[in-house]
Amino acid sequence: MEALSENLFLNGEDSDEAYVPPEACKDWPIQDCHFSDWQKQYHGNWFLCYGRVMCGQGWPIAVQAMIFLLMLPTFMFYVLVILPYSEYLDVWKHTALTLVGSGSVLFFIVLIMLTDPGYLPSSDAPSYNVRYELSNGKTYCETCKIWKPARASHCVICNACVRNFDHHCPFVGNCIGERNYMYYVSLLWFVTLGSAYELTTIVFVLLEVAPMVSANRQRTLYVAFVLSIRNNPCLFFLALISGVFLFTYGHHFFMHLYLIVNNQTYKEYIRRNDLDFDAKRYDRGCYVNVYERVCLPVHQSHILVSQSNHNR
Ligand SMILES: [Zn+2]
Ligand SMILES: [Zn+2]
Repeated sequence: MEALSENLFLNGEDSDEAYVPPEACKDWPIQDCHFSDWQKQYHGNWFLCYGRVMCGQGWPIAVQAMIFLLMLPTFMFYVLVILPYSEYLDVWKHTALTLVGSGSVLFFIVLIMLTDPGYLPSSDAPSYNVRYELSNGKTYCETCKIWKPARASHCVICNACVRNFDHHCPFVGNCIGERNYMYYVSLLWFVTLGSAYELTTIVFVLLEVAPMVSANRQRTLYVAFVLSIRNNPCLFFLALISGVFLFTYGHHFFMHLYLIVNNQTYKEYIRRNDLDFDAKRYDRGCYVNVYERVCLPVHQSHILVSQSNHNR
């Protein structure tokens, strides 16, 4: 392989854009990589338990986002809505719902953060400049010096190619790829569900409180509701946060449902208007698309724990 690499390098140096690499190099498998080698190469990842657990490179931002965007609003909801208005709400039932909901969100955030999205280790072969696509969908990554599989893409933030690359999510500090995509969709579902629950609970409390704050019983429910909001600005603020979360995460969830049904990644979706790109090339019908995304097993991680199973 080394001799072939050298040959390639020389040919690549001398040739123009139309250079066609030898057939053999197109079939080079993606090499596995020991976690310590990966850590040296990509300094951002954090490994725990001797490489058994890998943390995405953006984990400090992810932890802050988790605390300030998810845990803090949930805590405020519990302290400012559930506890003070226990006369209108079943506190135990709502405590259980809040714990299960926030626990599920936390569980999926941690899973996404700690799962290798499907990184493809780079090769040490010399680079050669080819920009076309093979019949099996493979394309060459100039940075990683590998023929990446169909639908894999290079993430500039992680500086690595990712299998079935969807996008890089700064809020979870990791790439979203083949190996953690369904965790991401599950997270969107639970945040959407939790936001809808919080919003409806706050509206319910405001409606229950409304008759109390309305001195004049002749006022309509609408006016009483507006008065209730004026007298409870904290509840209104929390309802606003829940509404924004419901809209943004709900929108993302339904968009990813659309992508699953159409067998598209987000990267393919945003390129749907490119004239030289067929965004529906992997569409095999709704049922097969869903089966492929949800039921088929994902590829094993190329980042290995011990040297003994290196290049297995
Ligand atoms: Zn790459
Ligand atoms: Zn990334």
